[in-house]
Amino acid sequence: MPVEKTEYRGAEELYKYYEVYETIGSGGFAKVKLGRHILTGENVAIKIMNKKDLGDDLPRVKVEIEAMKNLSHQHVCRLYHVIETATQIFMVLEYCVGGELFDYIITKDRLSEEETRVFFRQIVSAMAYVHSQGYAHRDLKPENLLIDEDHNMKLIDFGLCAKPKGGLTYELMTCCGSPAYAAPELIQGKAYIGSEADVWSMGVLLFALLCGYLPFDDDNCMLLYRKITSGKYDNPRWLSPGSVLLLNQMLQVEPKRRLTVGQLLDHPWVMRDYNSPVEWQSRQPLGHVDVDCVTEMAVRMKRSRESTTALLEKWRYDQTTATYLLLLSKKLRGKPVRLRPDPAPWQDSSPPRQGMRARDPLHFSEDEDAVILGSVDFCSDYIDDCPWVTVAQHTPQGVRGLPDGSSNNDMRLPSPSVEKRRACTPTPERGRTATQHSQERGERPQERAGGNKESISVPDRDVDLFVLPPPRTPASCKKNPRPNRNVPTTPSAVTPQGASKDHSKKRTAENKQLPGGDILTFSPERRSRSLDMAVLGDSGKKKRGGKMFGSLERGLDKVITMLTPGKRRALRDGPRKIKAQYNVTLTSHTNPEQVLNQILSVLSEKSVDFTQKGYTLKCQTRSDFGKVTMAFELEVCLLQRPEVVGVRRQRLKGDAWVYKHLVEDVLSTFRI
Ligand code: ADP
Repeated sequence: MPVEKTEYRGAEELYKYYEVYETIGSGGFAKVKLGRHILTGENVAIKIMNKKDLGDDLPRVKVEIEAMKNLSHQHVCRLYHVIETATQIFMVLEYCVGGELFDYIITKDRLSEEETRVFFRQIVSAMAYVHSQGYAHRDLKPENLLIDEDHNMKLIDFGLCAKPKGGLTYELMTCCGSPAYAAPELIQGKAYIGSEADVWSMGVLLFALLCGYLPFDDDNCMLLYRKITSGKYDNPRWLSPGSVLLLNQMLQVEPKRRLTVGQLLDHPWVMRDYNSPVEWQSRQPLGHVDVDCVTEMAVRMKRSRESTTALLEKWRYDQTTATYLLLLSKKLRGKPVRLRPDPAPWQDSSPPRQGMRARDPLHFSEDEDAVILGSVDFCSDYIDDCPWVTVAQHTPQGVRGLPDGSSNNDMRLPSPSVEKRRACTPTPERGRTATQHSQERGERPQERAGGNKESISVPDRDVDLFVLPPPRTPASCKKNPRPNRNVPTTPSAVTPQGASKDHSKKRTAENKQLPGGDILTFSPERRSRSLDMAVLGDSGKKKRGGKMFGSLERGLDKVITMLTPGKRRALRDGPRKIKAQYNVTLTSHTNPEQVLNQILSVLSEKSVDFTQKGYTLKCQTRSDFGKVTMAFELEVCLLQRPEVVGVRRQRLKGDAWVYKHLVEDVLSTFRI
């Protein structure tokens, strides 16, 4: 069921165009919810940030938005719409149903070399493109790579990216990102080249994919830095000689000895079984206008195609941009390029959902309370002028091959022979549609025959009209892919709302003064991790103290409440039936209550706070100061094949590796 419309005050612009569903993730900055774009019916991810909580980090969000507006690539998560209200910023993004690569790795323990290669080629493709556009990502890690419905990688979280004014060959100074993935030169506080630091992170990422753990890891920050700067790590026995060599070439402490992304494109390890270099150019270049999509929009807006195109080409990241990009996404997935029908309101006999009423037709105008960030003056050289991202001097020797090193205008394209091979050899990567091919060649796609073909001669207006679909009825709400059938049963327990307040806590940089006097700034993931470690101690168990007993008592309370008639009523509907997915741990049990009770008692034992809603447990760990350090969800489900009970897991907040250990611990009794 969509969330209450009152949840985000002043967000009429959002609710006008989207249905908003449950939280699907959260980071240091933001809470991310599943949404549905009403006009196209497409699912989207809505990243929600509270301006007050962002405080000094607001410029980072602007950096992320500007970067995402400039990036359009098959392996980079697409930005569709930006809505800014007095208190919130909403970024509407391509929805990646498969979740984080991190969760995928932990489910599988580690990936085979073959599967790693499939993902790694896509990561190289995304990074080569991002670098070719002059950006360094600077926070590459498996939590920032999502999996879409076709099992493809999508890069997210450009909040720490940098676009040096003089191109990527200019050195950067700010130390940011997650320390475990940070390059040695970065943690030493030296000036560094963004693309070179990204390659180091890609090496750490590759190691994590192949091994299921990090090459450099330590709970103690100083020891971790020492390990990273020494560049020494152990190669486990299962790594092939080719993998050992590639990791070694990427994890070179001296940046100039490291492989470049350009060299990765046709590296023998990367090419193995493919016999073709990585295709890194965008299949969806920015600015391309698809005639079919424009025609469909023009019909609905009762405008001419020309004026619709002119409006679209403003690329304001408003409802026009979102509708176009979502229609295009439908088209590229082979779905009909159609907006949802707009029958008269109340056409079906069911009453409107409470709190909703028929609304005026949608106006494609800027709402008075909603400032579209695209219209905010945000100059092109914004990045690295911000106090928290600084660029140092130009380094002549820093010039490297493309897409790593040079500025946008100075791109070293892959050699002709490489191009030729690419053209002749079908790659195992996803097939492209004829439209995509023609887009790459710069051709205009064929105009669609039929009713939409002729241009509609209506006078151009500044305000573009789309007719609103009927108000959603309870029946239409059933389309929610994950209906919330849960009933709260522990009124005194921590509510998800309560949790969300913690999620949106201000992301303040942790500054570490190194002996040399350099200041390191790290993303909150690391901070949460160190806090978790402080709380959990080396054994991963919470240290004894007053809080622990309070927490344990609360946990026991919940187990007792479990057995009350009210609780039984709440569980009456039974667990959801789902298909086995990688974020579901299979058990050998067939009785869901038994599994649920066992999890409840393990959570209590481990002093993990939780709220129970039916078969879903919202779990949290807290620091001694009461700060939520980790939040995740466990849901007991029934699987069809095999017919056993499964436990769906989702990390909502906190360090991914700490989460991995904790959840593994909680579910270890069931693992088969
Ligand atoms: P932050 O900038 O606060 O770190 P992120 O952009 O990393 O937030 O998003 C937090 C989490 O939300 C991600 O790790 C992921 O689990 C989820 N998420 C973010 N974007 C999407 C998306 N487009 N589709 C699905 N889940 C997403």
